[in-house]
Amino acid sequence: MAGYITVFTGEMFSGKSEALEAQVRTAVNRGAVTQVFYPEQAARASQRDIAHRLREPHPNLKLTPVPQADAEWLLRHVVPDADVVAIDEAQFFTPAIVSVLQQLRMRGLVIYVAGLDQDYRGNPFGPMGQILCIANQIHKLHARCARCGASEALFSQRVVALSDQIVIGDTIYQPVCEDCYHLAGAVSLAD
Ligand SMILES: [Zn+2]
Repeated sequence: MAGYITVFTGEMFSGKSEALEAQVRTAVNRGAVTQVFYPEQAARASQRDIAHRLREPHPNLKLTPVPQADAEWLLRHVVPDADVVAIDEAQFFTPAIVSVLQQLRMRGLVIYVAGLDQDYRGNPFGPMGQILCIANQIHKLHARCARCGASEALFSQRVVALSDQIVIGDTIYQPVCEDCYHLAGAVSLAD
C-alpha cells in the first residue's frame, strides 16, 4: 500500500501539534503501531510539547526524541513494525528530512508532520517549504491574532529582542495578523 504524508502547519499557537496529537491518538486507538519523533532540545525547553501530552504508556505508541534533530538518525530509528510515523517541530530538522519523508512514504508508512511554516521574520522556516512541496495533503491552521483579536493570525511575532532564528520558548512569541505584525514593527522590535 502506498504511503501518505499529511502536514499541519501555521504560526505559533495555531494548533498544529494538537492536530498531530489527535491523529496519533486515533492511530493508536485503531491498533496502528505509531512512532512519534520530536527534536530532543525543543522538548527539553517546553513542558507543553507533544511528548509530555502523550506520555501515558501504550503498547502501540513509541515516543522517540531525536538528538540534534538529525533526520538521518530518525530514519535509522524507525521501528520495523511501525505503521504510522508522526514528526513534531519539523522546522528544526536537518535538510535530509525531505528525502527521509519520501523514503518512509515509499515504504508505505502513513506520516503526519507538524511544523512552523515561517520564522519570526516571516521567512520559510528550515526545511518546511520543501516538506510542503512533497506532501500529499496540507492543513494550514491559524490562531486568532493576539493583538487585535479580530483577524486570524499569520505570523509568530517575537515579543522579546533576540535575533537568532531559533529561540525556543512558548512565552516569547505571540500569533499576530498581518496588519498587527507590520503596525508593531515586528522585526525592529525583535532586533
Ligand atoms: Zn491583528
